[in-house]
Amino acid sequence: MKEYMDRIKNEEELCWINPCRVSAAEALSQVEFNEYDVADAAARLQRFAPLIMHYFPETKVDGGIIESPLTEIDEMKEILNGEGARLTGRLFLKRDSDLKVSGSVKARGGVYEVLKHSEDLAIKAGILDSKADDYMKLASDEARELFGKYKVQVGSTGNLGMSIGIMSAALGFEAIVHMSMDAKQWKKDLLRERGATVIEYEGDYGAAVEQGRAESDADPMSYFVDDENSEALFLGYAVAAGRMDAQFKEQGVVIDDNHPLFVYLPCGVGGAPGGVTFGLKLLYGDNVHCFFVEPVTCPCMLVGLESGEMNNICVQDVGLSGITEADGLAVGRPSGLVCRFMNLMMAGEFTVDDSRLNYYLRKLYNSEGLFIEPSSCAGFIGPATISTDEDARRYLMQNELEDKMADAVHVAWATGGSMVPQDIRDKLLRIE
Ligand SMILES: *Cc1c(COP(=O)(O)O)cnc(C)c1O
Repeated sequence: MKEYMDRIKNEEELCWINPCRVSAAEALSQVEFNEYDVADAAARLQRFAPLIMHYFPETKVDGGIIESPLTEIDEMKEILNGEGARLTGRLFLKRDSDLKVSGSVKARGGVYEVLKHSEDLAIKAGILDSKADDYMKLASDEARELFGKYKVQVGSTGNLGMSIGIMSAALGFEAIVHMSMDAKQWKKDLLRERGATVIEYEGDYGAAVEQGRAESDADPMSYFVDDENSEALFLGYAVAAGRMDAQFKEQGVVIDDNHPLFVYLPCGVGGAPGGVTFGLKLLYGDNVHCFFVEPVTCPCMLVGLESGEMNNICVQDVGLSGITEADGLAVGRPSGLVCRFMNLMMAGEFTVDDSRLNYYLRKLYNSEGLFIEPSSCAGFIGPATISTDEDARRYLMQNELEDKMADAVHVAWATGGSMVPQDIRDKLLRIE
């Protein structure tokens, strides 16, 4: 068997098992966040609910809480099995593709960070007396005038920019989004329509972030959302776990020693899958197994963890292009913060070839009537191969999971899609 790093360099699809994973209890004791930090983030989102309803009336049905459906996708499971997956247990889709406001998983972390920043500014300026105050005051002329003096900037391959741009522009901030060449045109157009300034770069995501950070740092009235290091983003994502737990309970789905949970999370810089994994570990401990999924041409988290170099290495350093159709995953260097945590708690990684993404996209649409964007489809490589891949099977055996797989619960995390314009959907659904 070839070494993992050789297979990574060859752009082979693989299942990598994390050799550094420790028990959930041990991992959580080494992380500087805990359940109170996640509860604090959840409470903050609750305080903002009236304001969210005010600016985004489509969230009224959910009381101003931005949350996505959890849908069992049995027909998709049958399709995967028809192609040799041998998947047992139940398969669900966590549909962050349908999150309101910005149509991707970034509506969790990104929205959360902007709200937290606005809260900090408003408390400092005396517009909010305390966290118990009426948050509708943040829609007052006084508050909007205050926010209008400040900039919020971010570097993005697309979806983070949409989330930060839409939310900060709605609150009255001057929103500036620095976008990499991978970013889709429709995302730039939509942002400009919502009042954000979009600056385009020839280079990749790393270049856009670097420029954005430099411009923001030079301006005392500017706040930079730092995808590579942000604690606020991470905690905003972590809130998803408790929300999904409530959905499992509503649907009578049990996660325990005999019903293990497997979650497959598409990964870019790592913040979204990392935050969700952290939240899930707090809730389910060793009964949840979180696998990240990255494109074979751009597996930055995998390269960081397998080499042990964390964020001191990028995919180009091992000869990979970093170029992928999965724009949300086109990140060459992982978050250092997330690498450090995931090294302790991530079960492993799957890599996926771009050619599968549109295939899964069409299969899901045709079987379940659900549309998600290409990046979002990466997660399906997990359920498609966990029962057959040699390394995955070794993981199941070593963790004494084989006998429990009949009662396992699998969740593919759909990370984006509802805002993709119709003409682009039509094109994606036609590609063979
Ligand atoms: C951002 C994004 C991800 C991954 O999130 P990271 O925090 O960058 O790891 C996955 N899928 C889509 C569609 C995204 O936009």
